[in-house]
Amino acid sequence: MAMKKKSIKKPAKKAAKKVAKKTSAKSVKKVANKAAKKTAKKVVKKASPKAAVTNSGSDKDLETSLVELIRVTSAELPDDVQKVILEALAREEKNTTAEYAMNIIKANIELAKKKSQPLCQDTGTVLFYVYHPVGFNQTKFTKLIENSVVTATKKGYLRQNSVDSLTGENSGVNLGPGHPSIHFHQHASNKIEVKLMLKGGGCENVGAQYSLPHTALGAGRDLDGVRKVILDAVHKAQGKGCGPGVLGVCIGGDRGAGYIESKEQLLRRVDDTNSHSDLAGLEIEIVETSNKLGIGPMGFGGKTTLLGCKISALNRLPASFFVSISYMCWAYRRQGIELGSKNEIKKWLY
Ligand code: SF4
Repeated sequence: MAMKKKSIKKPAKKAAKKVAKKTSAKSVKKVANKAAKKTAKKVVKKASPKAAVTNSGSDKDLETSLVELIRVTSAELPDDVQKVILEALAREEKNTTAEYAMNIIKANIELAKKKSQPLCQDTGTVLFYVYHPVGFNQTKFTKLIENSVVTATKKGYLRQNSVDSLTGENSGVNLGPGHPSIHFHQHASNKIEVKLMLKGGGCENVGAQYSLPHTALGAGRDLDGVRKVILDAVHKAQGKGCGPGVLGVCIGGDRGAGYIESKEQLLRRVDDTNSHSDLAGLEIEIVETSNKLGIGPMGFGGKTTLLGCKISALNRLPASFFVSISYMCWAYRRQGIELGSKNEIKKWLY
């Protein structure tokens, strides 16, 4: 009996142990798998491009927000720009051509906003600047931006403005190699911010890049040399580029980076102050000196040639010293939005 008992009990115990071991291993594995899956899902949700791009909103919601950003940018000047334009109008002497020109600009601004129509027939190069968190799907966002540009063009917020450089053929929807121009910047924040600049062709044409030293202008490789070449660019732009304008300037960098940075300076508010004291001083000096040149609005003479000047510096090679200047006309169209969790416009940035 004892043996039977033993012989029965032992295998049973063994089997029970085995089952228990198996079961517990299985269930532990199951639980572990479940937990791992859950964590993976969480991580994917947190870090996946889709989650970062769309949050809980849909692609359609995002496109709606982007189209609205384009509409507002095209039809309404930001408050800081409107303010300096009105100040410039107040400065001009009464019954002069300069005052007349500024009054037309003012009327244009009011009419475009009222009718929600483009401020200028040239809706310009479409430049997007996207500031996004880690794990953001740039490929998908690019597609959504392109869709929104097509929709905005069909709605008339953008002119059919992008042509093939070799054949001159117009795509009709503002899409093609390099257009729209999209610049992505990853940042530490969870926010997704989208800034948009519409930069007209006339003002783009009077942008300039100088390599210092510049013997003809007596401009050396120092801030005084920088001042001289910027003023030379202002002088050369007179009567072109639809002034009064705003300058974005980059000291240094290579040729390509310099131009990109000079344009990004135009994303700054007109009324901000440069954190670098020397550059802050130079910005003020350039505006004050330019406004004494008598070039005035549209080159008609007058007191306002520049509404602002924004300067930054990038490192350069010892062998190079470039000064890159981007000129923005009075139709200084830039806006920005912060996207909410449902891809709605949570906040306007200007
Ligand atoms: S330079 Fe500016 S204001 Fe002049 S036509 Fe072009 S977009 Fe319009």
